[in-house]
Amino acid sequence: MSVSEQDKPIVVALAGNPNSGKTTVFNSLTGARQHVGNYPGVTVERKEGHADFDGHELQVVDLPGTYSLTPYSLEELVARNFVIDERPDVVVDVVDASNLERNLYLATQFIELDIPVIIALNMIDMAEAQGLHIDTELLTQLLGVHVIPMVATTGFGKRELLDAIVEVTAKRTKPRVTISFGSELEPHIASVTEKLDDIGLDDQMRISPRWLAIKLLENDAEVVKDLRERIPQAEELLEGVVRARRHIREVLGEDPEIAIGDRRYGFIAGACRRAVATVKRPKVDITDLIDDIVTNRIAGIPIFLLLMWLMFEMVFTLGQPPMGWIEAGFEWLGAVAAAWLPPGELQSLIVDGIIGGVGGVLVFVPNILLLFLAIAFIEDTGYMARTAFVVDRFMRYIGLHGKSFIPMLIGFGCTVPAVMATRTIDDEKNRLTTMLVAPLMSCSARLPVYLLLAGAFFAPEIAGKVVFGIYLLGVLLAMLMALVFRKYLFSGETTPFVMELPPYRLPTLRGLLVHMWERTWLYIKKAGTIILVASIIVWFALTHPAPPPELSAADSPEQAAVHAAAYSYAGRISKTLEPVLRPLGFDWKIGTSLIAGFAAKEIVVATMGTVYSLGETGDEDEGLREALQSDPQFDPLVALSLMVFVLIYVPCIAVVAVMKRETNGWKWPLFLIAYTSGLAWIISFIVYQGGRLLGF
Ligand code: GDP
Ligand code: MG
Repeated sequence: MSVSEQDKPIVVALAGNPNSGKTTVFNSLTGARQHVGNYPGVTVERKEGHADFDGHELQVVDLPGTYSLTPYSLEELVARNFVIDERPDVVVDVVDASNLERNLYLATQFIELDIPVIIALNMIDMAEAQGLHIDTELLTQLLGVHVIPMVATTGFGKRELLDAIVEVTAKRTKPRVTISFGSELEPHIASVTEKLDDIGLDDQMRISPRWLAIKLLENDAEVVKDLRERIPQAEELLEGVVRARRHIREVLGEDPEIAIGDRRYGFIAGACRRAVATVKRPKVDITDLIDDIVTNRIAGIPIFLLLMWLMFEMVFTLGQPPMGWIEAGFEWLGAVAAAWLPPGELQSLIVDGIIGGVGGVLVFVPNILLLFLAIAFIEDTGYMARTAFVVDRFMRYIGLHGKSFIPMLIGFGCTVPAVMATRTIDDEKNRLTTMLVAPLMSCSARLPVYLLLAGAFFAPEIAGKVVFGIYLLGVLLAMLMALVFRKYLFSGETTPFVMELPPYRLPTLRGLLVHMWERTWLYIKKAGTIILVASIIVWFALTHPAPPPELSAADSPEQAAVHAAAYSYAGRISKTLEPVLRPLGFDWKIGTSLIAGFAAKEIVVATMGTVYSLGETGDEDEGLREALQSDPQFDPLVALSLMVFVLIYVPCIAVVAVMKRETNGWKWPLFLIAYTSGLAWIISFIVYQGGRLLGF
């Protein structure tokens, strides 16, 4: 036996809810060797005892019984301070198995603290008697900490507990899971964590910065006080926290601490739903009732698909009329500007470049609003969390799991937050796979392209179905590529994990509107910034250099404009690429749009707006849709091939940038660009050439 083992006893803190059997466990571990006193400075009973096991000396401290680690009561504060200040080697959380969900709340807080913890799943005799069967091995994997079944009154499980204490102490095993707080809270937690990291506070306090961030968002008075004492930059940081809290309250319609608590219960509910089998269910609440239906093994997936289909129908149908109005508005604006400005460079820049480009993108604001409204609704009700549960079994076939599904769903809105949402996936292989396939989930910026093309080349009755089909193709390709990546790029098993099931809530109208507006506003802002600049660049590249006069002398104005564009920089670049694009049914005009679309996918539409607007004379101004219809290059098959290409090919610059940040390097973003371009070409080739062969 080594000296160090002799010298320093293993300090074990016993924590748990009142009446979970803590004292019984304590007595069973320490026998007669115990003494009782008070915690320094407070009259809260402190019991301490010793135990010898397998050559190790254990010093066991019985913490006051608590339900949580918030500093609302003296007991809770004492328990928390002991854990944080004294740093026991391991915390044993005694949990009443017959009252599992409620008791596990405390456990989530130790997991958040990221300290070595063991769950003593006590009173399993009572649980069995109630008809509960708990799969402790699965629970161990889901919670990422040891779960030891025990009956403290008989000594059952005592040996296993002691073994676990020695093992966890020797290996300093920390919880292997991170509890995710959902897409509204996580970004706030991440940004506070980052600030704490920058300050270097975790080194000073030797505590998980993520835990500190969560506590700050919960407005934990002790942590706030501590921070003020320790660091000079505290006020600035706390101001940021106050803003974040206000934002959360506005969007969710409830206090952040309530929302955070709900997510903890969601984590527990998700774990218990998988690891606990009930012979007879004691009580049924409304959340359970709905979950029995929507997470049903058989009905779950059809219900989900039906809801998705309804969502796209709604986006398409309700968005159509306001879209027409905005379109008419921009046509009018273009005509007015053309009438007021003298013909020449400036008129062309404003009418063709800016109004054509930016207008072409803003036309789709109603659809984007509706799409974000629908996404906010399924997110805020709690249904989005269920979808992960529903598709989990299916996702396992392709080597992913349900948790990867939420980033993918968010990807329907925008790929940038989708890539960030992969942070909740602990498993690195799964995380990278999810990141690489998430861009195939068609984001809202691509929607304008589909709406334009489907609207122009397919009858109104089937246009919505074509768009839905493109989305579906994206999903299927994502599945396929996930399968390929998991097999060849990142092979190996993944560990089980918890999918949180937060309680259902009726979303607040305000929350929905805020969510919807925040995201739509980003879209509009993009139209006013990146897209405006890109439109001007594209316009310049399309109109310069001017062709020599002899080239266009004899032509009609339309043909002259086309010749001029073909002569321009953009035309020359795209003409070089034409051999590659021809087999897909694309000409140089489409090529130009696709290149420009790398900045942002809406720019594909903006560029078309400019290209086709240049060919017109001011007085016979027509909408982009009609302009496309009258272009002989286009037909439904080309439109389809183009939609498919836009779906798959390189995501926008913003996605590449966020991917570089999230993976710490250029390797994966470059890989993403390469594989999506290749895949886009292949699938579009199949669609176009296949369609031609079939005689379309
Ligand atoms: P504490 O409040 O957490 O310290 O809980 P106690 O240790 O005082 O236990 C509360 C009650 O539960 C006592 O009557 C114990 O005898 C009983 N108890 C403790 N562990 C078990 C167990 O594993 N099974 C059963 N059936 N009863 C237990
Ligand atoms: Mg007790």
